[in-house]
Amino acid sequence: MALQFYNTASRKKELFTLPEGVPAVRMYCCGPTVYHFAHIGNLRTYIFEDFLVRTLKYYGFKVNHIVNITDVGHLTSDADDGDDKMEKGAAREGKSVWDIAKFYTDAFMADCKRLNIQEPTRWTRATEHIQEQIDLVKTLEEKGFTYRTSDGIYFDSLKFPRYADFARLDVENLRKGSRIDMGEKKNATDFALWKFSPTDKKRAMEWDSPWGVGFPGWHIECSAMAMKYNGPTLDIHCGGTDHIRVHHTNEIAQSECANGVPFSRFWMHGEFLRLDGSKMSKSSGEFLTVSLLMEKGFNPLDYRYFALGSHYRNYLNFSYESLEGAREALKSLHKKTDPLIGKATSIESEKAKAFQNEFCEAIGDDLNMPRALGILNTMLKSDLDDGEKAALVLDMDKIFGLKLDEPREEFEKKIDGVDVEKIESLIAARKVARENKNWAESDRIRDELAAMNVMIKDSKEGTTWEIK
Ligand code: AMP
Ligand code: ZN
Repeated sequence: MALQFYNTASRKKELFTLPEGVPAVRMYCCGPTVYHFAHIGNLRTYIFEDFLVRTLKYYGFKVNHIVNITDVGHLTSDADDGDDKMEKGAAREGKSVWDIAKFYTDAFMADCKRLNIQEPTRWTRATEHIQEQIDLVKTLEEKGFTYRTSDGIYFDSLKFPRYADFARLDVENLRKGSRIDMGEKKNATDFALWKFSPTDKKRAMEWDSPWGVGFPGWHIECSAMAMKYNGPTLDIHCGGTDHIRVHHTNEIAQSECANGVPFSRFWMHGEFLRLDGSKMSKSSGEFLTVSLLMEKGFNPLDYRYFALGSHYRNYLNFSYESLEGAREALKSLHKKTDPLIGKATSIESEKAKAFQNEFCEAIGDDLNMPRALGILNTMLKSDLDDGEKAALVLDMDKIFGLKLDEPREEFEKKIDGVDVEKIESLIAARKVARENKNWAESDRIRDELAAMNVMIKDSKEGTTWEIK
């Protein structure tokens, strides 16, 4: 059966096959920057990528799935300046950048597990691949694609004539419009490959390089690690749509200039989760975490089911009402499937095979999960016998990943209307105040928490909290 995906590069659905001799799909997904919890918007993208990997496997492909962990603090703006996110996270919580990276990497992996997102073939940490990044910058330098300014080594985007093609950028206007704020860059679309550490301050993370002590620019890690584990050409590269204009455009420029071959055959992008009509984002506004949903009595799989209900290329608006709707729908699905599981035979009859084919076609049509879910429900209402129904549920759940073969786990509602993020950031601020012996501030924060009915307990292991 034909497998087809929408390719951002061509803006069309294309048939997916592997070139002769390639044993496994060479896949790379941009991973999280670990200076804070992943929000459920980020996780929507990883759920989409999980559906993709499961679908490829269902179609019989092996997948070499690489996901990076951005634990180097790249700078907060796309223009390569601003604050270092990791250092900001460390200052916020009074921890070292290394502790921050470890803590939020573990938290991210725990969230993926709760959402039944399968582990990639390999997680790759940027800090463990500094040499590979330096080597790639050296190649670009030898081939004449770089120049040096007083603060770093930059990629000269004018030397890559196809620069604007991928994101359909209006480069003329972009370059005209941003003469200011360009620093010593020659073109607005040039970007840092290696940044020098400031002379007046020691950075928490910095490395030696042929150009001086510093740290990698924020795009180079993905190209370097993708090439190391999957060679110069990938079959599929994924991320959220926010990466199309800058991050993926720059990954393509540097990779193709270094290797002289296309960087990825397919590019697939997940659309945003929105909250009140705008993108949920780590750096601004409210963001919701899996832990918070659990505190409110949701099973993380309710969120997975919620994500399943909309196509990955459409915006998805989050509200507690719609999440409650997803919870009820998943509960009623369990009511239908629980009595069947255990009776599974095999998919034998023409009618059962027809359901299976229809399902296979739906997921193979650019991951049409809402349609696939509809097929599951129609199949459950059909007159197939229980054994075949159960076999089909188990087969389809290889893609949905809703754990329909396990009893549903209920989560006790611990809080109502409490902002866990706020509580945790107040506790972190109190810790900093205490370390600075600022007792007045630490007491003020304790009172603010008490006013929210939050009781805190300090011990050698740290501070825990509970709702009164
Ligand atoms: P970050 O940790 O910010 O690098 O983001 C990790 C992944 O989440 C990237 O693939 C982003 O494109 C994606 N992402 C960021 N915000 C959202 C959102 N609101 N909805 C869906 N995906 C997002
Ligand atoms: Zn990336």
